[in-house]
Amino acid sequence: MKQICLMGGTFDPIHYGHLVVAEEVRQKFGLQKVLFIPAARPPHKMGKKISEAYHRVNMTRLATASNKYFEVSTLEIERQGISYTIDTVREIKRIYGIETVYFITGADAVLEIINWKEAEKLLFMCTFIAATRPGYNLNNIKETLKSLPGDILKRILPLEVPALSISSSDIRQRVMEGRSIKYLLPESVEEYILKNGLYRKNTAEKLFLP
Ligand code: ATP
Ligand code: MG
Repeated sequence: MKQICLMGGTFDPIHYGHLVVAEEVRQKFGLQKVLFIPAARPPHKMGKKISEAYHRVNMTRLATASNKYFEVSTLEIERQGISYTIDTVREIKRIYGIETVYFITGADAVLEIINWKEAEKLLFMCTFIAATRPGYNLNNIKETLKSLPGDILKRILPLEVPALSISSSDIRQRVMEGRSIKYLLPESVEEYILKNGLYRKNTAEKLFLP
């Protein structure tokens, strides 16, 4: 049976923090595939500027091309509208005809899970892997999610990954200030950013509340 893992994100841009987490999870859990799914409109980033979807998809493709277990799915981009994880998980299960799906989140995202659409149902639909991320404490999971039924917490598996204090926000800020982004993300993505003039100014669209 296929074991698929989903890695959702804005990927604006994708960086080594994302890639290290995905590879670590793939190997530790013996998964056949990690699907990177760039969000069309992330619900938690409304009112913020994000780059157009095709740029984020292109960068994600470039960054994952050299790993045969990595694939990019444009499912959320094609669905348009706000990208809710529960809709994506349902769609993936239907497309691949599978029951078990893993979903990777960094420590910051997992602590927010309670605010996700139909959080409780979602936690029963897939196994979450919560990767450590510098600046966020995974030990807070139990406290943060205490309003959920106890057995649900068993569906969130914490995973220690090599710590990389890299974020897309910091990379965007660096480009805006003309600082180097070398060694924070694959060279192909760095070249893409420079060639397309991303993050300098007006290259992003602003997302508005629906
Ligand atoms: P931004 O700063 O724009 O929010 P980001 O670096 O957090 O960008 P996202 O696209 O928001 O990247 O993150 C997608 C997923 O990857 C989230 O689950 C996030 O927690 C995880 N993630 C991102 N960077 C890291 C990192 N350095 N270590 C561990 N997990 C990470
Ligand atoms: Mg983020």
